[in-house]
Amino acid sequence: MDLPPPRRIRSVRKRLSADGLHDLVRAAFRELPDQRHDGTTISVADALMSAFAMFSLKDPSLLAFDERRHDKNLHNLYGIDHVPSDTQMREILDPVDPEQLRPIFGDVFRELQRGKALESFVFYKGCYLLLLDGTGYFSSQHIHCDSCLQKKNKQTGEVTYQHQLLGVALVHPDHREVIPLAPESIVQQDGNTKNDCERNAAKRLLRKIRKEHPRLKFIVVEDGLASNAPHIRELKALHMHFILGAKPGDHEFLFDQVIAAFEKDRVTTMSWKLDDGYAEVSFINNVPLNESNQDLLVNFLHYVEYGPDGKERKVFTWVTDLKIMRSNAPLFVRGGRARWKIENETFNTLKNQGYHYEHNYGHGKQHLSVVFAMLMMLAFLVDQTQQLSCPLFKAVWEKLRSKRALWDNLRSHFRHFIFESMKHLYEVILYGLAKELPAPVFDTS
Ligand SMILES: [Zn+2]
Repeated sequence: MDLPPPRRIRSVRKRLSADGLHDLVRAAFRELPDQRHDGTTISVADALMSAFAMFSLKDPSLLAFDERRHDKNLHNLYGIDHVPSDTQMREILDPVDPEQLRPIFGDVFRELQRGKALESFVFYKGCYLLLLDGTGYFSSQHIHCDSCLQKKNKQTGEVTYQHQLLGVALVHPDHREVIPLAPESIVQQDGNTKNDCERNAAKRLLRKIRKEHPRLKFIVVEDGLASNAPHIRELKALHMHFILGAKPGDHEFLFDQVIAAFEKDRVTTMSWKLDDGYAEVSFINNVPLNESNQDLLVNFLHYVEYGPDGKERKVFTWVTDLKIMRSNAPLFVRGGRARWKIENETFNTLKNQGYHYEHNYGHGKQHLSVVFAMLMMLAFLVDQTQQLSCPLFKAVWEKLRSKRALWDNLRSHFRHFIFESMKHLYEVILYGLAKELPAPVFDTS
C-alpha cells in the first residue's frame, strides 16, 4: 500500500502549486504601499493581481482581459476582490515603482529552495550558472514615457523610443526549465551608447542580486561585451565567478599571449568524439587579460567543434576565473554554451510561447510599461516553478503535449466553467471532467 507523503512534504508541495504560488504573490502585493486617498474601491493589490492574472492566462491584450471582468474565477483562482477596467488598471499601475516588485521574485525563489528544487541546478562546486541577456520589448516613434530609452537618428534627428530589459536566470545545461530572477530595466544614461546602457544595467543588477542572495555561489555567464577589466574586477568584488565570451578582435593581446604559450607547448589540448564529428578544447591558466591590465589574470578556454568531414563547425572562446583542468574543461564548455538558454528558453519563450512579450499592453507616463514587463516575468517564474515542482501541472502538460495547448485549454475552461481553485481546474482538464460541471451563471451586474 502506498502511504501518503509526510505532512511537511505535502505542505511544501502545496506551496509550489499554482494555488500556493498565487497565495504567495497576492500576499506580497498586499504588503505594497497604497498612497491614494481618494476612497477608491480597487486596491493596488487587486490591480497588480489582475495584471498578473492577465499574463498568467496569456491574454493577448488588456481588452481581452477586460472581457473577464465579471468572471468569478478571477476571485476564486487569483483572489481578486475587485477587477479593474482596462483604464483603471493602467491608471493604478502607472505610478507603481517597479523596484517594489523585486522582492516577490525572491519570495518564490525561497519556496523553490525550501522545496529542494534548486539542488539539481548546482553546476560546479556548489555554484549556480547565472545568465544575463538584454532584449528589447517596445519601440515607437510616438508613444513614450519617463522611463523610455531614446535613440536619435543622426541624419533626420528623428527620435525612437524603446524599452529594453536585462533578463537574468539560473540555468543548468541538463534542465529545460530556467529560474528567472527579477530583471533590470535598461535605462537612458546621458551620452552613452546602447552597449554602455546594458553594461551599466548589468552592474546595477549584479549588485542587487548579491544583496538579495548574499550566500549563493554564482558563476556569471555573459557574452563578449562583458569580458573587460572593470567588469571582471566588479565580479570579483561581488565574489562571483565568471565564464565570459572573448573574441580575438577585442582581445588581441590575450590571443597573442596564448599563441606564444602554444608555441612553447604550455597550452593543454584535449579532444573527444561527438555523435557526428569531434570536439577539441585548448586551455591555459593565468594569462593577462590585456596589455593595460597585466595584473588581471584570467584562464583561457577555447573550444572547436568539427563535423564528420573534419571542417570547423563551431568555435567558442571564454575567459574564466575558475581553474581549468582536463577533468573540468568539458563541463566549463557546457557552462559557457548554456548562454543560448537565456535567449531560447527565456526571451524566445516569452515572445513565441503564448506570453506576448512584445505586445503593448499600455505604456503609461511613468512606469506602466516596466511594471507590466516585470509582472510578465513574474508570471513566467510562477509557470517555471510549477513545471519544476508541481506533479499536477506536469501531468496536464504531458497530456496536452504543448504549452500552447495547455494555455488554450486553461483559457477556455476558465471562460466556460466556475472552479474552486487552480487545482480543481487542472484536475478537470487532466481527467476530462468538463462535461460533468454545471453550466455557469454569469453575473453581469
Ligand atoms: Zn516608455
